[in-house]
Amino acid sequence: MTETLSAFLDQCRAIVGADYVLDLDADKAAFLTDQRGRYTGRALAVLRPATVAEVAALVRVCAQWRVPIVPQGGNTGLVLGSVPDAEGGAVVLSLARMNAVRQVDAVNRTMTVDAGCILQHAQEAAAAQGCLFPLSLAAEGTCTIGGNLATNAGGTAVLRYGNTRDLCLGLEVVTPQGEIWNGLRGLRKDNTGYDLRDLFIGAEGTLGVITGAVLKLYPQPKAAITALAALPSPVHALRLLNLMQDHCGASLTGFELMSQYCLALVAREFPQLPQPFKTPHAQYVLLELSSSESEAHAVGLLERAIGAALDGNVIDDAVVATSMAQSTGLWQLREHIPLAQAKAGKNIKHDISLPVSRIADFIAATGPKLEAAFPGCQLVCFGHLGDGNLHYNVAPPDGVSNDEFLHKQDEVNRVVYDSVEVFGGSISAEHGIGVLKRDELVHHKSAVELNMMRAIKGALDPLGIMNPGKIL
Ligand SMILES: Cc1cc2nc3c(=O)[nH]c(=O)nc-3n(C[C@H](O)[C@H](O)[C@H](O)COP(=O)(O)OP(=O)(O)OC[C@H]3O[C@@H](n4cnc5c(N)ncnc54)[C@H](O)[C@@H]3O)c2cc1C
Repeated sequence: MTETLSAFLDQCRAIVGADYVLDLDADKAAFLTDQRGRYTGRALAVLRPATVAEVAALVRVCAQWRVPIVPQGGNTGLVLGSVPDAEGGAVVLSLARMNAVRQVDAVNRTMTVDAGCILQHAQEAAAAQGCLFPLSLAAEGTCTIGGNLATNAGGTAVLRYGNTRDLCLGLEVVTPQGEIWNGLRGLRKDNTGYDLRDLFIGAEGTLGVITGAVLKLYPQPKAAITALAALPSPVHALRLLNLMQDHCGASLTGFELMSQYCLALVAREFPQLPQPFKTPHAQYVLLELSSSESEAHAVGLLERAIGAALDGNVIDDAVVATSMAQSTGLWQLREHIPLAQAKAGKNIKHDISLPVSRIADFIAATGPKLEAAFPGCQLVCFGHLGDGNLHYNVAPPDGVSNDEFLHKQDEVNRVVYDSVEVFGGSISAEHGIGVLKRDELVHHKSAVELNMMRAIKGALDPLGIMNPGKIL
């Protein structure tokens, strides 16, 4: 170990204690590999502070030694934002020990939490006070509020409650200079100049370290009801979305599209899961309705809307869950699609968004282009249709190995992302840019937009120590 490195690590140990500066390979390993096991980086050390003051002191030491910092929450991110590069000159700053719920204010309908608080724990703390924190995603048992904010995570309830950005009123941030900005305001109205909070949300740790947040809470719905509708096409799914919104308004809290190929994949890989329809249909929509009145109110709303959809030939068939077990069973079909894909082999993933009105046209136009370029390729197309968000994944044709197909990733991406551009969409709906989409970003942002982003980065982080190489 060089004297310089030793002096740097000694300063870090003096701040957090020797136990919380991990510099042995075995101790660092768990923090260096990404969630999907695709990439392992290297780091000088993993730093594990317990307080905001410790984070600030560590950042000041890193700035002094020009050591890059990679903030990390639950390390469930999907674009390699939370792991260091292969150079080995950075530190991972894990927020995992800062996991407290600081306060729940049921009257203001807010909660203040540490950035390292696990999302599920935040949900539970809100529920214990009779409130709902509505952010919900499959990684909620592991991901943290800081990571959710840094990636502006979406999830299954965006249609009703918005993305994480919409659920945050205030932030506490340690700047790249090691100063603490206390912006933990629980205000719904605050027009006092530039919105600094919104700069740090979605910045993927490139502008500062989020250490705490004030989050919005909502009344707990009295009832939630789930249904699965079968339809002939994505055009019908859009009609159903509008019909449901007209009939149910804000009670519609989930609207997930799944193609027949997706459900067939789930049936093949998880035969124990009950399949609700005897005969296959081209598309399915998983619907969820919440009611602040009663279960009878939710059922009434849903039955009237589904009746109208059947009468208008918008849907072919529907099943309504009549018990919590049935509802869980329907959601399991949706949640098992990524798991079934993982069991079936590797595929080329795209987390894209489009104006809702153009989704059906995008699907109709892009599939044939992929088929022409990669005959026999399989499309695993599902997603949060109500938010215009598709997981548009391309799996190899039968007989082509995963590795052989993955070599074509750049060509596949070109077809998909060019089509996204044509239809006015975004190359990243909810997972962020990280490293994986960094080079693609420049094809989709104007020079004006990129220059403003670079100016913000340069102004807030002139030494370039905050998560370098991510986004820009
Ligand atoms: C099974 C599964 C399902 C998922 N479903 C969804 C989904 O439905 N919707 C969705 O949006 N995402 C989803 N994700 C992606 C992921 O869970 C989210 O991006 C999540 O918000 C990341 O939180 P994290 O704490 O794990 O962050 P990490 O992975 O640790 O970090 C993500 C990024 O945030 C930065 N960061 C982390 N903490 C901080 C901090 N305190 N301050 C500043 N920067 C920080 C990191 O540097 C990195 O760039 C899913 C992932 C998995 C594995």
